[in-house]
Amino acid sequence: MGGKINRQGYAAADFTRPEDCTGCAACAETCPDVCIRVWR
Ligand code: SF4
Repeated sequence: MGGKINRQGYAAADFTRPEDCTGCAACAETCPDVCIRVWR
C-alpha cells in the first residue's frame, strides 16, 4: 500500500515499479471495486 490517502479516504495501492509489471491482470481480476484496467 502507498502512504497516501485518496479522496475517498482509502490508503490506495501505489503502482511504484511499472517496469516490473508483466500484464498478468491479476490485480484487475481481484480488485473489489473493479477500478483497474490492464493493457500493455
Ligand atoms: S498486471 Fe497487476 S498483478 Fe499483474 S504484474 Fe502488473 S501490476 Fe502486478
